[in-house]
Amino acid sequence: MSDAPHKISHSTISTLHHIHKKLTELNSQIGRGPRQLKAGIAAIESLKQAELQAQETLKQAKLACDSKQLQLKEREQRVVDIQNKLNTAASNREFQTFKEQIAADQQANGVLADEILEAMEKIDRLGEELRQRTAELKQRSDDHAKLQSEVDARVATASSERDRVLEELATAEEQLPEDAVDIYQRLIRSQGEDGLAPVEGQSCGNCGATFAPQVLNRLMLSHFICCPTCGAILYMTADSVPE
Ligand SMILES: [Zn+2]
Repeated sequence: MSDAPHKISHSTISTLHHIHKKLTELNSQIGRGPRQLKAGIAAIESLKQAELQAQETLKQAKLACDSKQLQLKEREQRVVDIQNKLNTAASNREFQTFKEQIAADQQANGVLADEILEAMEKIDRLGEELRQRTAELKQRSDDHAKLQSEVDARVATASSERDRVLEELATAEEQLPEDAVDIYQRLIRSQGEDGLAPVEGQSCGNCGATFAPQVLNRLMLSHFICCPTCGAILYMTADSVPE
């Protein structure tokens, strides 16, 4: 990039550079906000799924238990029915058959009653699991709500700070000589804050390239000069060209 034929105030470029660095930092703070919340949102979603799953498992266990209880009731009724038939047995053999049926049913009912006990214990366990899932979800949601309000506050502060810095920028840009504005705008668009660079010692503060003495001389005379290597608009500071 060739040197434009105008002069420039180093302090204006220095101010602009500081403003652009500040804007970069504020934009990054603002952009970080949603990313900080993303992990929490995903965790809550997966805890919600776990809670739903636990609710469904508990529901199925209760249905299974109800159905066994119903089955037991029916079978107990059947035992009563057969017991009532004992007196009407037409023969000794029929009487014996009823007796055997009753014994078999009572044994089956005992097994079923044990199963129901187990099913009820399982329901207790699943109920406890569901309470844990619900408590985890609540804890995580509360934590997230807290983080959300912290992040919102940080983003709001950074946004109003950015509005203020943008006003500062507009004021500082008014100080640019008219014939430097196009180059400046183009560099800021393409390189952001790296479109401006202090001279550090005898080198470019952006890319580190060392300048020839005549470049430094012209810089000291407030010429508008872009770094021949990275293209950044150069400005002198107290740290430039030490003896
Ligand atoms: Zn450079």
